[in-house]
Amino acid sequence: MPRPTEATIVLDALRSNLALARAHAPSSKCWAVVKANAYGHGLERVLPALAQADGLALIEFDQACRLRELGWKKRILMLEGAFDAADTAAARAHGLDLVVHCEEQLGWLADSPGDGPPVHTFAKFDSGLNRLGFDSASLRPAHARLSAMPAVRSVALMTHFANADLAGGADESMELFAAATVGLAGEVSLANSAAVLSVPTACRDWIRPGIMLYGGSPFAQHGAADLGLAATMVLRAGVLARRELQPGDAVGYGSLFRASEPMPIAVVACGYADGYPRHAPSGTPVLVDGMASTTLGRVAMDLMMIDLRQCPSAGVGSVVELWGDNLPIDAVAQSAGTIGYELMCALAPRVAVRVEALSAQSGAL
Ligand SMILES: *Cc1c(COP(=O)(O)O)cnc(C)c1O
Repeated sequence: MPRPTEATIVLDALRSNLALARAHAPSSKCWAVVKANAYGHGLERVLPALAQADGLALIEFDQACRLRELGWKKRILMLEGAFDAADTAAARAHGLDLVVHCEEQLGWLADSPGDGPPVHTFAKFDSGLNRLGFDSASLRPAHARLSAMPAVRSVALMTHFANADLAGGADESMELFAAATVGLAGEVSLANSAAVLSVPTACRDWIRPGIMLYGGSPFAQHGAADLGLAATMVLRAGVLARRELQPGDAVGYGSLFRASEPMPIAVVACGYADGYPRHAPSGTPVLVDGMASTTLGRVAMDLMMIDLRQCPSAGVGSVVELWGDNLPIDAVAQSAGTIGYELMCALAPRVAVRVEALSAQSGAL
């Protein structure tokens, strides 16, 4: 019997989250962001649910080439651009759009051999993250150089917000972007999920939603369900053992939890080597056979313990939902001091994955 630890990827949820993103930005084209193996969901698995995207955006060149092999014919945007001259050549060979954020990338494009059609580019402006992108002085010359290159088919403009998850947090970046791009021609792409959901004026020619597609909230203050998003990843594990603790009995490494009364607990087949956060303290929410309960003690590599006082009939064979449609991944993440993004991306390869296929949908797909 396989270990009873399973993730379910719900493609209907992904498709409806994409539709919600598009509804927030009805006149924008949409890059569905699929970096990091589609936020841990599996790039190949999610593809059928993303048919309505205008393009896919990611970081990894091997995965972009794989998308072409799998038959994705629409556009693909490399969000960090090329990492070397060979990537630049690969972009031309496979028809990948390139973000261009630095002088080196300009050089590789200028020197790229004449074979292969020219590529679409997105000149990136640094609007406050101080990570990747041209500053206001260097954006204009970069745009001019790109516009003159035979290897370049079009030059669009983009930036990535530092604070779009906070009320008014995109304002300053948008002002800087507007000032830096006065008079520059080209399509514009600004909005990540947080901006798609909360800053309509940031939804320009292209939006770039990521986390919202996967049913995660980009905001600390709003849950995904309140935003109309559905969970796309459900992590479940079975109960391997049930124990009755006596007062004074401790649980797990470090004895971080100690019983103050007789109480039943369950040992669950999931640990940090499956992607469950080790930093989740006692009290992190779980659902046992649909009933709300919490974790106890320190999460181990392969196992974790949970409280059965609220669900005394649970035992070996019971199913524990660790996150999913009934238990928001963001609630688990918050308890563990992180964000849903990190939990999704960390789903471990050893966890069995089941894909819940798309249901038939009326209307053209
Ligand atoms: C990851 C990423 C996104 C998507 O961000 P979310 O917060 O997941 O919506 C958009 N743009 C860029 C450049 C990114 O790297």
